[in-house]
Amino acid sequence: MDKPEDVVVIGAGAVGLAAARALAMAGREVLILESQQAFGTGVSSRNSEVLHAGLYYPPGSLKAQLCVRGRVMLLDFAQQWRVPHRLTGKLVVATEPAEVHAIEGLFAQGQANGVGGLELLNGTRAQSLEPALRAVAALYSPATGIIDSHALMTALLGQAQAHGAQLALCSPVLGGEVLGDGSLVLEVGGHEPMRLHARTVVNAAGLTAPALASRIRGVPLESVAPVHFCKGHYFSLQGRSPFSRLVYPVQTSAGLGTHLTLDLGGQARFGPDVQWLQAQAAAQACVPDALGLDYSVDESRRQAFERDIRRYWPGLPEGALLPAYSGIRPKTVGPGAPAGDFIISAPAQTGVAGWLGLYGIESPGLTACMAIGEAVAKALR
Ligand SMILES: Cc1cc2nc3c(=O)[nH]c(=O)nc-3n(C[C@H](O)[C@H](O)[C@H](O)COP(=O)(O)OP(=O)(O)OC[C@H]3O[C@@H](n4cnc5c(N)ncnc54)[C@H](O)[C@@H]3O)c2cc1C
Repeated sequence: MDKPEDVVVIGAGAVGLAAARALAMAGREVLILESQQAFGTGVSSRNSEVLHAGLYYPPGSLKAQLCVRGRVMLLDFAQQWRVPHRLTGKLVVATEPAEVHAIEGLFAQGQANGVGGLELLNGTRAQSLEPALRAVAALYSPATGIIDSHALMTALLGQAQAHGAQLALCSPVLGGEVLGDGSLVLEVGGHEPMRLHARTVVNAAGLTAPALASRIRGVPLESVAPVHFCKGHYFSLQGRSPFSRLVYPVQTSAGLGTHLTLDLGGQARFGPDVQWLQAQAAAQACVPDALGLDYSVDESRRQAFERDIRRYWPGLPEGALLPAYSGIRPKTVGPGAPAGDFIISAPAQTGVAGWLGLYGIESPGLTACMAIGEAVAKALR
């Protein structure tokens, strides 16, 4: 076999690109393999583009640490490389007294996570910031913002390439095996199928990361996290947004509630809601095309959106919601279970020197991508 590649990163989403950049900047020779014809077409292209401050995650969890660190890294990077972004600020609103304890809990958790600038507001003060809002109290997070995820990924790829990384598109990884010295041989499909020898492999394949890992002989199956697909629909608002900050209701079990986010053009959209997919059989597929996922927006959900939104914005006009898009979260736990954490399955855990798997990289994975990349480079040092 030819001389092995130094590092192969599987997946050119925000996380794979950030990991590739961090590894390339640490002096590694990096090859990124992406199954699709373009980078950034997976989960990273179907999200809310919110720079989360770090309110929602238990102190000490990877989500908390990597979100808070990742946000700072992302802001620095965005400023340096002119990636469009804006610190809009966000209000988490209690619309009835029974919800106030929930936002007080978020306030305490956010402070424990090191989120700066948090303020608890009474309803009058919240309405003075956002007159269209109905709230009895709110948590104000000035550190929350929005970012152009495609511009971010373009800049991450550019930086990775500037440090020698290469991107191969239309290169789906279909399986492989771990060799005795901990390096790996990957089976790569596409126009010119091949077997590729790599000293180190980073699995950043998003939705298909667990299925792919279980097709690599020698990766301990118990190190591969389960995956549960959870779809979220978005509706956009026709006309001008009455809000200049992001507005979130109190969190529901698997999502953050039907919230209002803004894009950089000021257009408001609502979502994502929560629809668990019965796609566990499909989740055996290790490339996105073979998952057969349906990204259409189910218009029958409009009424439920209107009902949820009117709790904090009674003035939502009739017929103002238009179906927009949907995204699918790769969760490590199913319906009813407490939210799972990010999983970074590194050589220290699996005993496989050349393998690192990333599982359950749902929200706040976009915010955290650069901190995840940093953690990957550190774990493989
Ligand atoms: C509805 C929704 C809303 C969200 N909102 C936010 C938010 O507001 N803020 C935030 O911080 N995070 C948010 N997230 C989370 C964030 O979008 C993800 O955590 C992040 O984009 C994950 O990036 P990734 O690189 O891991 O995955 P992906 O972007 O999916 O990248 C994986 C890549 O791997 C490729 N691939 C897959 N299999 C193979 C294979 N076998 N061979 C080669 N390539 C392969 C895919 O084509 C894809 O390009 C949201 C997620 C969802 C679903």
